[in-house]
Amino acid sequence: MVDLDKNIQYIKGVGEARAKLLNKLEIYTLKDLVTYYPRMHEDRSIPKNIIDLVHGEEALIEGIPVTRLSEIKVRRNLVMYKLTVRDDTGICQITWFNQSYLKSIFKIGKKYRFFGKVNKKLKNVEMNSPVFDVEGSSKNTGKIIPIYPTTYNLPQNTLRKVIENGLIEIDKKLDDTLPKYLLDKYNLCDLNTATKQIHFPENFEMFNKARKRLVFEELLTMQLALLSLKNRYTIKLEGIKFESKIKMSEMIDNLPFKLTKAQLKVLEEIDKDLEDTKPMNRLLQGDVGSGKTVVALISAYKAVKSGYQAAIMAPTAILASQHLESFTELLENTGIRCELLISGITKKKKEDILKRLESGEIDILIGTHAMLEENVKFNNLGLVVTDEQHRFGVRQRSIIAEKGDNPNVLVMTATPIPRTLALILYGDLDISIIDELPPNRKKIDTFPVTKEMDERINNFIKKQIDSGRQAYIVCPLVEENEEINAQSVLELAEKYKNEVFEDHRVEYLHGKMKQKEKDNIMDKFYNHEIDILISTTVIEVGVNVPNANVMVVENAERFGLAQLHQLRGRVGRGEYQSYCILKYQGNSEVIRKRMQVMKDTNDGFIISEKDLELRGTGEFFGTKQHGLPEFKIANLFEDIQMLKVVQSIAIEIIDKDPNLKNEENKLLKKLVNEKFGNRIEI
Ligand code: ADP
Ligand code: MG
Repeated sequence: MVDLDKNIQYIKGVGEARAKLLNKLEIYTLKDLVTYYPRMHEDRSIPKNIIDLVHGEEALIEGIPVTRLSEIKVRRNLVMYKLTVRDDTGICQITWFNQSYLKSIFKIGKKYRFFGKVNKKLKNVEMNSPVFDVEGSSKNTGKIIPIYPTTYNLPQNTLRKVIENGLIEIDKKLDDTLPKYLLDKYNLCDLNTATKQIHFPENFEMFNKARKRLVFEELLTMQLALLSLKNRYTIKLEGIKFESKIKMSEMIDNLPFKLTKAQLKVLEEIDKDLEDTKPMNRLLQGDVGSGKTVVALISAYKAVKSGYQAAIMAPTAILASQHLESFTELLENTGIRCELLISGITKKKKEDILKRLESGEIDILIGTHAMLEENVKFNNLGLVVTDEQHRFGVRQRSIIAEKGDNPNVLVMTATPIPRTLALILYGDLDISIIDELPPNRKKIDTFPVTKEMDERINNFIKKQIDSGRQAYIVCPLVEENEEINAQSVLELAEKYKNEVFEDHRVEYLHGKMKQKEKDNIMDKFYNHEIDILISTTVIEVGVNVPNANVMVVENAERFGLAQLHQLRGRVGRGEYQSYCILKYQGNSEVIRKRMQVMKDTNDGFIISEKDLELRGTGEFFGTKQHGLPEFKIANLFEDIQMLKVVQSIAIEIIDKDPNLKNEENKLLKKLVNEKFGNRIEI
């Protein structure tokens, strides 16, 4: 047996310093190392004719030197080596720098293979610093080479070598993680083969086989976990049944506004669930500003009037406080008692809340993660609402639900995902959609801009502020970072406070600040004691400042479209025409297309479809936006077909063996528990 938990530091070729670099890539153990999959492969096995080379590509050529290697001193410490080679179709000029050992290598008339980046100017073909092999050797060329995502100071070659060493350690000694009956039935290769071939494939056919098996495993694990979660709700059919004589309309008729058709339709769906003994387990998707909160409120009203308590969980203290505010306002005169539980409150206050919650004196508890703590006990919890679900994991969802006796669960999210995916990913939930915004919303004008526009944009912001509005500016980084060429909050705040907007009130906000400081800044912005708020995406979620009408996103190319859409949703909440300015860098086709999508549409569902299309789900889901496990290898966009197949396999398995108790499924149970912990008890 190999010790897969072995610390990476003790792998051949690593040591302390390199271990630190590897840690940056989240590689800590031998297992992490061998499951650190390549981003792509480079085919260095098939040579191209020199005449066919394309500028900018990396390619393999087979060439014969027609000159000796010449040595040119460019300046002190910089020596250039030049070699001219030919094949039957053309001539290529090769250069290296400071590699004096090359002098003894090349012989005129002998054949060598070179792999490197092609530089083509008119008829001149050049290759800079290629790797090479003498004919017959295949150290650097002649095979399919993995390319890994890596980090500053950890060169591709080094990382590749370390992974190769890791693979030597586990050589054919891995116990398989999938049961044999599945491998046989679905013609999947064994784990040892897959692990070797995913990194260093003999050919692309083997690579595909390896990938298929690993994707299968990853998706199956997820599907089994989701299904067993769903099972827990459907097996225990006995849930809570709310009173049908309590009419939602009592509450609806007392609202200061008229609900949209979409809101009413969704409430009807919810109402039906609530009056059924089977516990509700529903996902509510609705674009930013579509009015999900009031849907939660009306559901909570029904719960309370039926004699139960409701819990509303939000991802941030700010958001929870805002919910409390609107709940208190709208529930005035109903006699319903709401309280707020966040980690910032005093011990005394907290004790008091916990006591009254347990005795049933509190009807609706609104709060953050703080509600998940063990000492938070309800008297008779009948409804759980989690807002902005993508911030909470599957696990947290079940922790809060366990505080009641199969309570009704409503999960709300403003991150729309395409329905096909939602059906599979939220396999454990029924889905409702609010696909309409309340009337009289002004369309937010969106402008993608590049650096040259900075001054004009700043003047525009000044004009807006001088007419009494406020602006958000979002940056991808907190502080400057040498490795990442992107705007940071601290740097920009410094510049805007002291130079560009010195006559205005500029403050900043980021996730590394203390909760108290953050709340303080947010309150000040809310009360219009700040004009410009520079921040990271911490403001992404739910905050409501109707007076703010400008959203500037720095390095917009670094954000997912769904995320940009969320950010944009922070403005356009009041009566003022609002603007979203997307500053972007880079000129690639994809970046420009993505910016165009943002300009063209305000519809979150269309945006998420496009996001998928333009990026693939690797990144789409890599951002942890959906509270789902990140995939190491599966890509939900490319692998949608496989996902469907695997889903039906998972259903078949769970149908036969709901708790994965059978001997043949022992390994599957282990996979699920390893990945999802014991919260999902199957
Ligand atoms: P989200 O779905 O993003 O959580 P909110 O629930 O915060 O949206 O609603 C955004 C704003 O729209 C709130 O100020 C809310 O009071 C208001 N609102 C909700 N529904 C309606 C409606 N039917 N008509 C008018 N305003 C509404
Ligand atoms: Mg909301």
